Amino acid sequence: MLKIAWSPIYNHPLPQGHRFPMEKYDLLPKQLLHEGTIEEKNIFEPRELTESEVLAVHDSEYWRKLQNVDFTRQEERRSGFPITEGLIKREITINAGTIQCAEYALQYGMAMNIAGGTHHAFTNRAEGFCLLNDIAIAARYLLDKEKAKKILVVDLDVHQGNGTAEIFRDEKRVFTFSMHGEHNYPLQKEQSDLDIPLKDGTDDKTYLSILNQALNKLLDTEEPDFIFFQSGVDVLKTDKLGRLGLTIQGCKRRDQLVIEAAKINDLPVVASMGGGYSEDIKHIIEAHANTYRVAQTTFF
Ligand SMILES: [Zn+2]
Repeated sequence: MLKIAWSPIYNHPLPQGHRFPMEKYDLLPKQLLHEGTIEEKNIFEPRELTESEVLAVHDSEYWRKLQNVDFTRQEERRSGFPITEGLIKREITINAGTIQCAEYALQYGMAMNIAGGTHHAFTNRAEGFCLLNDIAIAARYLLDKEKAKKILVVDLDVHQGNGTAEIFRDEKRVFTFSMHGEHNYPLQKEQSDLDIPLKDGTDDKTYLSILNQALNKLLDTEEPDFIFFQSGVDVLKTDKLGRLGLTIQGCKRRDQLVIEAAKINDLPVVASMGGGYSEDIKHIIEAHANTYRVAQTTFF
């Protein structure tokens, strides 16, 4: 069964006019339930995140700041959010969800979080709508519990997975792969184990051929036993922040490449949702919904 992490807190209100499309965390599960891609029983509400799970990845001074909601104006601006207790609680819930998804993926093959992919969170700071790095926290959890030996992070959000790259810079058991818009945020990029920067306007055909080649090579050379997939849909041509040129169909084909590769190679996979900032919310929901549709048809 496809297990999906979600909680009402995922759709935490932001001040009117904030550019982060928070409503997608409410609309997407509704759409998936409405069309019958998932049922209520697929959804689980995450447990609490423990302090030791956070501190296995993040700096204790930074964790203290989160607990006390104690940020300078500049730190808050960098996070992209008005940081509040509620928003921090939301992030903590999302992060616990990804850990539980990792457990469910070991059991069922694949699990998904209707949020997360918070790849701009660094060891000691928040950036770009990301406070705690869910993929890093769940990957570290698997390593510490000896439930995985070699983890591959496939980060296909249009923005580079800079926080994840920094966190695992010296961890050989996690291979960080990021394919992103060359001219997209962050302008100053970190070094992942493999970075593939793409030109503005890269189309479906070029994108899919580069991804297919890279993915097959990595599965071969790195021999991972677990995959985290950051499935951001800000690769769409319609995205306001992204600079690539994918169609919704191309984005779905991208999801298929990753999810089918995991299935064929018998690798547990967790998808964290990632970004999506198209002008029309319908494009965002349709592209994200495709990731869930592909997961159901491929794995279940
Ligand atoms: Zn993004």
